[in-house]
Amino acid sequence: MSEDIISADSISVSFDGAVALNDFSLNVPAGALLTLVGPSGCGKTTALRVIAGFQDVDAGAVSIRGIEVLGPKTNVPPEKRKVGMVFQDYALFPHISVAENVGYGVRGSDRVSRVDEVLELVGLVGYGSRFPHELSGGEQQRVALARALAPSPDVVLLDEPFSNLDAPQRERMRRELKKIIKAAGVTAVLVTHDQAEALAIADVVAVMRGGTIVQVGRPDAVYRFPADPWVAGFLGDALMFDGNVSNGQVATTIGSIESDLDDGTSVQVMIRPEWISPTVSETGTSTVVDTEFYGHDQRVEIRLNGGDMVEALVPSLNSIQVGDTVTLSVLDAVVYAAQHTLPGTRQG
Ligand code: ATP
Repeated sequence: MSEDIISADSISVSFDGAVALNDFSLNVPAGALLTLVGPSGCGKTTALRVIAGFQDVDAGAVSIRGIEVLGPKTNVPPEKRKVGMVFQDYALFPHISVAENVGYGVRGSDRVSRVDEVLELVGLVGYGSRFPHELSGGEQQRVALARALAPSPDVVLLDEPFSNLDAPQRERMRRELKKIIKAAGVTAVLVTHDQAEALAIADVVAVMRGGTIVQVGRPDAVYRFPADPWVAGFLGDALMFDGNVSNGQVATTIGSIESDLDDGTSVQVMIRPEWISPTVSETGTSTVVDTEFYGHDQRVEIRLNGGDMVEALVPSLNSIQVGDTVTLSVLDAVVYAAQHTLPGTRQG
């Protein structure tokens, strides 16, 4: 079991009475790339700022490598926390060169060699004498990352690092950034509101809502077993069916789904479109009403026997046409006891 490099415990922050973080707790294992994902305004940036030491709190504690940096009687300043930060707008110093930007936080006689080493790590050998305005967005981002890594921090925090890049660049930089972070051997927390990005890049995903963490886990685990219907819908397409448990089964319009909840429990069944497998059959009672062919897969809109519509995402090799009658198998489903209010959901 790896140790936790960052432990944030029961952090509360409010701005003029408005709660930004509410009992926020998060442990980040050593060497992990953790993505902190949640909708706009849920407190992601505030959480990063608290860990980095830029934000005062109303309550709570933070330890980095087992040493308390924030607590009732402790508040270690940012520059002493051994945390590197990459800001959303990169925040490069415009009037000094790339090398000077990167070397800004490095002290000691090996400063020049360390700058060269980090520029090589981020793929910017030969760019040292340029100025920030002479770089593309992606290059500026690499300089910001190099600057954060140069003092050899234990942890690097990245706030929406891809938001200034266009879509093709984002995807390329996402892969590169992961490689660089792994090569540097540093623990990283990356904030994003983009669930696809969060799932693609992370070792561990932490989902936030209303100032608190609602689920932490590996990308495949949080996608397949979301903690509640809100997380399910936030992380991907989720079809919801209402029902009641009877004899270990929930009868839904798409079929009968197993559940180990008590008989009589009213539930919501969550099914992802790719968990629905249609088979063309003359005896099928559902009908294909539309298809969208993407190449790698296809979206199929299906009218169920009772008139309800569902969407399935099926492999493109599955030959399926509008007007086909189909039988449906449900490959997987998650059953939730029906809830009226979700923890961490802000009202109003
Ligand atoms: P986004 O994805 O839009 O950047 P976020 O999840 O990072 O959002 P935060 O920036 O942490 O959210 O903001 C959380 C809440 O706190 C928001 O309601 C925001 O308006 C508020 N907030 C943040 N900083 C301040 C501040 N300095 N003064 C007042 N309110 C603030």
